[in-house]
Amino acid sequence: MSFDVQAIRAQFPILAQQINGNPLVYLDNGATTQKPDAVIDAISNFYRHDNSNVHRGAHTLSDRATSAFEQARVAVQGLLNAGSSDEIIWTKGTTESVNLVAFSWGQANLKPGDRVLVSAMEHHANIVPWQLVCAKTGAEVVPIPVTDAGELDLEALDGLLDERVKFVSIVHVSNALGTVNPVAEIIARAHRVGALVMVDGAQAVAHFDLDMQALDCDFYTFSGHKLFGPTGIGALYGKMALLEAMPPFMGGGEMIETVSFEQTTFNRVPYKFEPGTPNIAGAVGLAAAITWFNGLDRAAMMAHEQAVLDYAVECAHNYPGLTLIGQADQRAGVLSFVLDGSHPHDVGTLLDQQGVAVRTGSHCAMPIMSRLGVSGTVRASFALYNTREDVDALFAALDKVKLFLF
Ligand code: PMP
Repeated sequence: MSFDVQAIRAQFPILAQQINGNPLVYLDNGATTQKPDAVIDAISNFYRHDNSNVHRGAHTLSDRATSAFEQARVAVQGLLNAGSSDEIIWTKGTTESVNLVAFSWGQANLKPGDRVLVSAMEHHANIVPWQLVCAKTGAEVVPIPVTDAGELDLEALDGLLDERVKFVSIVHVSNALGTVNPVAEIIARAHRVGALVMVDGAQAVAHFDLDMQALDCDFYTFSGHKLFGPTGIGALYGKMALLEAMPPFMGGGEMIETVSFEQTTFNRVPYKFEPGTPNIAGAVGLAAAITWFNGLDRAAMMAHEQAVLDYAVECAHNYPGLTLIGQADQRAGVLSFVLDGSHPHDVGTLLDQQGVAVRTGSHCAMPIMSRLGVSGTVRASFALYNTREDVDALFAALDKVKLFLF
């Protein structure tokens, strides 16, 4: 197999359109990825032919919906190489997964004097839930410092890792800088002091092979919409023994075994964490995205992505008046920058007028912005369907932005 990027682009109907009179150049994949026909059709087919509630009805449609829903769980297990599909819990996405672990595990286990380490480059979704839980439990959230290059300071991490640290929650790939963190190493070091580790894989899942068993990760999470799947569906992986020991996060139907006013008992994992009607069509769509993704030549895809990102970084280095924010050795999917003397939002608006879609601002990661001395950046974020031509279009559009602004 090889990687025919034009054939891949042809499977994404949204990409073939004009924006403000120019061909769309979609470079906002860190926010959300576009969806191939295979995913759009799977969702449409589900609603046309199989829609029903899961785990409930004694009828054919409910059987079909339940089986599609549970097969989707197996697809996620395969994607993450988890030991069992029971270790996969459906959530709305990364944000809900972090809240689930922070509130369920954190409220049951954290006490005054305990510490939760997060890095200074986290998305707010991996900071705020821990702050909320620490405020309730008396534990403390402590940031792991980041270097000027936007890399995790591993020496500082070693200095912080002691018996007070009960949990480390760390981003795999920074959405603001593209930094790839050495998560296997971090997990090993944290385990040495007895701390558990959660990895936020929101920005990693579309770029790398993942293997929970090799990583020895305690919890891992991602959002379906960053992997060419629909919004509103994501998954939390957790080691079975940990999940079994954790109390429910939310109560309702399906998560119980028996309910009475004297005593309520809970369903087994994963259902204990899945009250109410889940996002069934979302799971079906995500399974279609995973099947589609698995059909690609992964090594060729990664080589293509690396080549496009390397080219973008090279263009950025040669571009007068552009400052790259984040210069980590290991980077994936993100080019974050400021144009000297301009506001990122103005740059983004002027790029949009030329059909180039980027994100601007603090990228829900205010602490890393202030650490690196900027209020925000322009972020071009790449997916497997982006090309060198997209990079050329970005820099040609930046030329016009500069003419307009200066
Ligand atoms: N963490 C990271 C690194 C992210 O990039 C995002 C999405 N921008 C999130 C968490 C939150 O994901 P979601 O909004 O899908 O819950």
